Order: sequence, then structure tokens, then C-alpha cells
Amino acid sequence: MRIAIAKEIEVGERRVALIPDTVGRLVKQGFEVWVESGAGEAAYFSNEAYIQAGAIIVSTPETAFSADLVLKVKPPQLREDGRHEADLLKPGSTLISFLDPLGNPKLCQQLADRNVTALSMEMIPRISRAQSMDALSSQASVAGYKAVLIAASACPKFFPMLTTAAGTIAPAKVFVIGAGVAGLQAIATARRLGAVVEAFDIRPAVKEEVQSLGARFVEVALEEETVAAGGYAKEVSDTAKQKTQAAIAEHVKLSDVVITTAQVPGKKAPILVTEDMIAQMKPGAVIVDMAAEQGGNCAGIEAGSQIVRNGVTLIGPVNLPATMPVHASQMYSKNLLTLVQHLVKDGQLTLDFEDEITRETCVTHGGEIRNQRVHALLESAVTVGL
Ligand code: NAD
Repeated sequence: MRIAIAKEIEVGERRVALIPDTVGRLVKQGFEVWVESGAGEAAYFSNEAYIQAGAIIVSTPETAFSADLVLKVKPPQLREDGRHEADLLKPGSTLISFLDPLGNPKLCQQLADRNVTALSMEMIPRISRAQSMDALSSQASVAGYKAVLIAASACPKFFPMLTTAAGTIAPAKVFVIGAGVAGLQAIATARRLGAVVEAFDIRPAVKEEVQSLGARFVEVALEEETVAAGGYAKEVSDTAKQKTQAAIAEHVKLSDVVITTAQVPGKKAPILVTEDMIAQMKPGAVIVDMAAEQGGNCAGIEAGSQIVRNGVTLIGPVNLPATMPVHASQMYSKNLLTLVQHLVKDGQLTLDFEDEITRETCVTHGGEIRNQRVHALLESAVTVGL
């Protein structure tokens, strides 16, 4: 079976689906691995390193996309030459990548129409057995780390407490809102830099994890269920949102840095930091809104922008994992390797739909869309005439 990695074409995307070390493992297991020339360059993995790992360098995207199994980071998209990457895939082949099936269901239709079997890395179930395939977690962890570094470099203060001949410096106060995978890594990173850290999440179960990282958990008693199936947060009522905002306002006001990561799968991110709260913050304070690409947790934030409002720096970063391409690619590559090994039997991809990981992750197969939520989204788009 031929496995190929294609060069990412999205602007700013520097990750690569497989790093040379992983390619070496696949080659040892008997796979032929093709690497599109330059695919690893932006992550500092040279063609030479892939050749040494046993890969074959192919010079054109057409060749890379004609493999039996194509591995990517970003969903297939329109190329500058007017061709869509999805149309370069061979009918009957398999694609494993981030596909954003709930945000872009039309791509799933396009892949199904081309008879491509597509597995979406966003859909890996959050179960212990699939932890090493969980690319949302690995990449969120990278993003949480980088968000704190961005905040620290924009912050006009030290993070740690310092006792110097020139006086004692008080530690910075960092408030992390949303303590999922990214939030917990942000807490750990801010603590390592010596800040005093507080954190809030509507899922009370994270309290112990927050405390075990040395941060204080801000408690807000909400009189409704905040956790949905799979352990994710639920969208809460307007009353609960107002109660949350009232409870966190004081903590936002006193913080030097606020990192927001709150998300509800399939929904716009909740607004948690309002204009009023920003107006109350100290001049020089910094907010890094990691949910900016999903609408933002912070009123008026724009993805990809950095602005100063009332002396507060508001940063809405995009695609943070791509800014740390070496380790982000290494982790993603491991996620892909584990998934591929899970799917391969006797050297061939074998989809067992009785298996939860395969069933949940596979979004198109045999010319059909297999995911009911993607179906529903496409049907509702037809109903409203989109
Ligand atoms: P996410 O990116 O969807 O959301 C980030 C955080 O925002 C979550 O902690 C969520 O509770 C929080 N949030 C949502 N609305 C909020 C609000 N109004 N106010 C404050 N916080 C709000 O989440 P994620 O990081 O991808 O992970 C979420 C869940 O998945 C967790 O239960 C985590 O333990 C679980 N998980 C399990 C596995 C596994 O078992 N393999 C792996 C990763 C994550």
C-alpha cells in the first residue's frame, strides 16, 4: 500500500502530516511512503531526512494525491491553479486529515462524490483507547503553551516574583478561562513561568486538575447541567451566562493576563469577557483569546488581530499549532501513525465499522456520507436554499 504526504498549501500552515521518524517506522512495516517534495520544509524536515527514513520524494501534488492513502494536516482546499485538492484524490483512495466536517459539510459531500474514504481527525472519540490518536488534544496542548508565551511577551511585566537589588517584583496574575486541554496546558505553562494563576470552567470536574497544577479554581455555582455526552461542555442558559460573567468580572479586572479557551463543540464560542470587563482592566493588561477563530470569548475580538483598547492588548491568534511546527508535527504524526496502525490489517486498510474509533472517525465511505450530523447539516443547507 502506498501512503503519501502532501505539502500543505494553506497560508501560514507550517506543519507536516508525518515526520521522518514516523515515515521510517511505516517503511519498516512494509509500506511505501511518498513525500511531496518540500512537504516538511516549513517544519525543518528536509527531503534528505525523509529519503534517509526510506521515503520516495515525489515532485508533484498530482503524484502525492494519487496514492492509496493520503495523509494531510488541513482539509483539502482550492489550489492557486484553480484545482481543488479533493479532485486530485484517486477514486477509491483514503484520506486522513483534519476535515472540519461539521464546519464544512460540503467538503464531505465532495469527497463522497469522488468516492474517497475520508477519516476526520476531529472525530477521533475522546476515549482512553484512542488517546494516542487524539489530534485535537495534541494540537490544543501546543496552542495552550504558545498562547501563554504570546501573552508573556506582550505583557509589560515579569511573570515570576523576583527579589533583586533593585527591589522586589510581584508575580503577574494570570486568569485562564476554560480548563480543557488547551487551558490546562496554559495553566501549567504560566505556572512554570512563575505567575500566580487562577482558572475557571463551567465543568466542575476540572477543579481538581486545575488545583493539581498549582492554580486556584474560581467556583461558580450554576443550577443546571453543564456537561454533555462525552465530557464536553454544554451550551448553558442566558441566566447561567450572566451569572458566570458576574462571577468572573472581578478576577478579569485584577488580572495582568487573561487567556480564554472556552468552547462548546459545534457552537459559536460563548462571550465571557464583556466590553465592560475590558474597560475595568488595568492598563497594560493582555488578553489572548484562543477561541477567536470560533467567534471569540472576548467581546469585539477578531481572529488574526492584535489591538489595544483602553490600554488593554487584545490578541486573537489563529492556528497556533502551526507556529510551533516541529513539535506540533511530531505529535500529529504520532496521532496519525497510531490511527493508521489501528486501521491496517495484513498490510491493507480494513475498516471495521463495529469498532467505535473507525465508526466515529470515518465520515465518508463507498460514495456515502456516514456521519449523521454532517447529513443533517447538508439537508438543512438545502432547506434554506444555500
Ligand atoms: P473544548 O476545546 O471543547 O473546550 C475548552 C473548555 O472550555 C472546556 O473545558 C469547556 O468545559 C470550557 N467551556 C465551555 N463553555 C464554557 C463557559 N461558558 N465558561 C467556561 N468554560 C467553558 O474542550 P477540550 O479541551 O477539547 O476537552 C473537553 C473535554 O474532553 C474534557 O472533558 C476533557 O477531559 C475531555 N477529553 C477527553 C480525552 C480522552 O479521554 N481521550 C481527551 C481530551 C479531552
